Amino acid sequence: MPGFEEYMEEIRGLWESCWLSNGGAKHLDFETALQTYLQTPHLSLFANGHVALEVAIDAFGFSKGGEVITTPYTHCSTTHSIVRNGLIPVFCDINDADKTIDAGQIEHYITDKTVAIIATHVYGFACDVETIDKLAQKYRLKVIYDAAHAFGVTINGVGIGNFGDAAMFSCHATKVFHTIEGGITTFKIPDMVRKVAPLINFGFVNAETVPFISTNARMNEFEAAMGICNLRHIDEEIAKRKLVADKYTELLSGIEGIKLLSPQKGVTQNYSYYPVFFDGYKHSRDEVQYLLKESEVYARKYFYPLTTELDCYAARYGASVANTPVAKQSADTVLALPLFSEMGLKDVEMICRIIIE
Ligand SMILES: *Cc1c(COP(=O)(O)O)cnc(C)c1O
Repeated sequence: MPGFEEYMEEIRGLWESCWLSNGGAKHLDFETALQTYLQTPHLSLFANGHVALEVAIDAFGFSKGGEVITTPYTHCSTTHSIVRNGLIPVFCDINDADKTIDAGQIEHYITDKTVAIIATHVYGFACDVETIDKLAQKYRLKVIYDAAHAFGVTINGVGIGNFGDAAMFSCHATKVFHTIEGGITTFKIPDMVRKVAPLINFGFVNAETVPFISTNARMNEFEAAMGICNLRHIDEEIAKRKLVADKYTELLSGIEGIKLLSPQKGVTQNYSYYPVFFDGYKHSRDEVQYLLKESEVYARKYFYPLTTELDCYAARYGASVANTPVAKQSADTVLALPLFSEMGLKDVEMICRIIIE
């Protein structure tokens, strides 16, 4: 949370304007601030991350039944956004090093029906954007990133929202940066901001004209104001999270059966999550989760199950975990340990002691 007084000051003007939604002053100020922070001139705001992705996909106008290459090691939101757009998810495996899509396998899945690659920057680790970009150019595919975890991450100094044709950031309360509920989609070209605008508002292009069938995906002024406040403190937030993450790394490195992820060359981290993989450890992941819970430490299996294992996708779209063995192994061994900016290092030590002992 930002300071109470700071937020109150930010929303004071709303009692004068009585303009609460539909692109008010806070909305515009927040957009401008984000353009600077994310280093992306073309972006749109949404009610949440999921609709930011779903509506952005719609704005590309893919033909129904088109195939989208994606991975099952993600939030079900990613897969839902494909399917709810009438597209077919085609599941590619991830690579073990950073849990993002295995770019080397993508080409194998490209057919004449493929329209896009929709991949997730898992835990804020960047996908292999260069290889994906080359494939997209070669086969004329669109690339859309689920960057829900990657707010503030840069690749060789360039904001991660600049890669692909579009990238979605979630501003849900549990993410590194939040607007209570909210989402942002960045676009490569300004024309997409123009195209997506009516889709955020039921398809209205003016008060009497609705050429598109769409939803309500608007961010309100209280959310935008929360974003403006939180953006002032985001660097400090990330720096505090780094201290916690570094302590985990110090205490959990070099232990047999515990796998940690290493930073990527040229990619900054936002320390959104601290995933640990119990692979060949003396206790199973589920046992570790249980033992932590006994001490009131709530670690999450994130991402588990794979989206291909969810009731709504199992046995559909040819989804088979056998095709994505790395994703399966990761989902079965992962535990995301508690991580938040105000977390004390003593708590990190306590958690690591439970895991080790
Ligand atoms: C949180 C999340 C979403 C959905 O974002 P909401 O803002 O909760 O709608 C989508 N994809 C990933 C990877 C997420 O972590």
